[in-house]
Amino acid sequence: MSDAPRPSVCPYCGVGCSLQYDPDRDGATGWPGPVNTRGEICPKGAAAWEVIDSDERLTRPLVRENGRLVTASWDAALDRIAGGAARAVEAGGPDALAFFASSNCTNEENYLLQKLARALDTNNVDNCARLCHSSTVAAMRDRFGAGAMTNTLADIGEADVFLVTGANPAEQHPVIFRSYLLPAIKRGTTMVHVDPRKTDTTRAADVHLPVRPGYDIPLLSAMAAVVVEEGLVDETFVAERTAGVDAYRRHLDEVDVDANAELAGVDPADLRAAARAYGEAERAAAFTGMGMSQHHCGTDNVHALLNLALLTGNVGREGTGINPLRGQNNVQGAGDVGALPDVLPGYQPVTDDAARERVAGVWGFEPPAKPGLTEVEMTHRAGDGIEFCYVFGENPAVTEPNSTRARRALREFDCLVVHDIFRTETAELADVVLPGSAWAEKSGTVTNTDRQLLRMHETRAPPGDARRDLAVVGEVARRVTAAVNGATPLDPPEDPRAAFEELTRVSPIYAGIEYDAIGTGSVRWPFPEGADQGTGVLHRDTFESGDRRARFDPVDHVDPVDPVADDHLVLTTGRVIQQFNSGACTRRSGTLMRMRGEDALQMHPGDADRRGIADGDRVVVENDRGRVEAPVEVTPAIREGTVFLTFHYADPLVNALTGDEMLDPVAKIPEFKHSAVRVTVET
Ligand code: SF4
Repeated sequence: MSDAPRPSVCPYCGVGCSLQYDPDRDGATGWPGPVNTRGEICPKGAAAWEVIDSDERLTRPLVRENGRLVTASWDAALDRIAGGAARAVEAGGPDALAFFASSNCTNEENYLLQKLARALDTNNVDNCARLCHSSTVAAMRDRFGAGAMTNTLADIGEADVFLVTGANPAEQHPVIFRSYLLPAIKRGTTMVHVDPRKTDTTRAADVHLPVRPGYDIPLLSAMAAVVVEEGLVDETFVAERTAGVDAYRRHLDEVDVDANAELAGVDPADLRAAARAYGEAERAAAFTGMGMSQHHCGTDNVHALLNLALLTGNVGREGTGINPLRGQNNVQGAGDVGALPDVLPGYQPVTDDAARERVAGVWGFEPPAKPGLTEVEMTHRAGDGIEFCYVFGENPAVTEPNSTRARRALREFDCLVVHDIFRTETAELADVVLPGSAWAEKSGTVTNTDRQLLRMHETRAPPGDARRDLAVVGEVARRVTAAVNGATPLDPPEDPRAAFEELTRVSPIYAGIEYDAIGTGSVRWPFPEGADQGTGVLHRDTFESGDRRARFDPVDHVDPVDPVADDHLVLTTGRVIQQFNSGACTRRSGTLMRMRGEDALQMHPGDADRRGIADGDRVVVENDRGRVEAPVEVTPAIREGTVFLTFHYADPLVNALTGDEMLDPVAKIPEFKHSAVRVTVET
């Protein structure tokens, strides 16, 4: 393989910056692509080549023998996988199988993995979007017909107001922040930031609402009530494009703005100022992140935000909309291509007879009609109905909630297969480990946060005996479907172009897009006939649901899962700029070394004083689920009563403290942002 520069896509966040290999610095450098048009990248992108060159890469398959992982041939490893899948189906039928697809791998790889699950007659396939924005997608699909950014990065600069709720783009989506939000703010756009912490994003805000974790609905409903009180409703939009406003107005009549502000823990005057700014704006764009979505009421949180946007007519025009900031580089695409338990490619419900028939016309077999289980539900059934689990490019031993339980569950599978590039904490628990390819070792497409399909171009071959991911999934599909009784045999193409072409015949939202036409540019879904680059702003005259109107959906506050006793603090979790998700890749980077303080527990000075805790002390953070130790950063940047930790590390394993007992009733997302904990000085 030549070392000549070939642009690819950053393997980290959902912004989708283009990178290329720079032989002069033997590293990744920004390439002027569709998103980072001047070639700008953040520290993670700049260090992305270190993943490729890491000495810790998996280079040979591993199988567990006598309790230890030992190297094995591909044949031996694949035989173990085929045998494990056949045994599981023999014992419990097709739903004894589970597949974790990857929000960090290509559309073609995820498409093939979900097709494999369905060829085996199960819909037990999911991806880690379940843990970040499944609630956002559920609410937006329900109301608007599309679970994706309504607008584009290119048009959001036209907004007069940004409402950023539960997101910290300055650290989590740095190129969006620096190249799209900040220039608009410098030109005069007002920013309202809703977040329990003051972050780098807050520094650019005009109004900060330090909401109590878990109290977004009272806050957003109060903002909507202010909009009504102050005559800021867009009556024309409401009359022409919405349904159910009378019931929603009656719901808002019951809202006491001051009481809601107090419940949400924010200053009523600031809340009113935020509502006034959003309501008076000619164009207001909302951005929403995991601070909103990662709650057991995440779907209702997003419904509350959608209500506010409809009330003020902020949908369907440039500089407006509801814009979820997605986490991993292909979290949007993994859902788009059907790596979800309730929908086929293009979000066609598995329960829709006509959709299954359409898909069967291409696949030659009909996918099952019964929705499968979600990621967390699949681990709840480990060893109790599910015996075989294939984990592709994810690290649930670190990222699942209640991770002590999750790790126990992963050990319960009769056959756990991990397909990854590093020996992650999940790989350590596996029966079979398959070495796959990193971002510069594969071609294919990913779909970024604003629905742009971008192409990755292979620059290097995988190291040692490691293989390209599409080839690995293809070979697993061949072996497993041949071994499992009743499965439809698969012989998938290893060429991403051919896999993509098949995907466009199955998925209505990707229909008409040509792989070669993407080139080094991008195409945005949906792609109506005759469109050059796809669709920019969604829902202009008609919602993607096909309706001219979207309904209001009044929602009520529900209390957090964990009761908070007098000696408790509320733990909320999030990311830091240097690391990514479970840290499987970034933790191994010399450039992205853990920085002093980034793993500290942020605590308000009042909470620290009451506990006799000083800045720099090591503390124990614990609840009934688990216990971690961390240094303390005493700072007024966090609201009193709340503490913050990042979740990037296996130590401290912060998800040992988060809960999986109660899931969002619609999206089945667990509660990551509100866990009651006790904090004491380590003795
Ligand atoms: Fe990669 Fe996101 Fe940084 Fe861009 S902003 S370089 S996509 S991590």
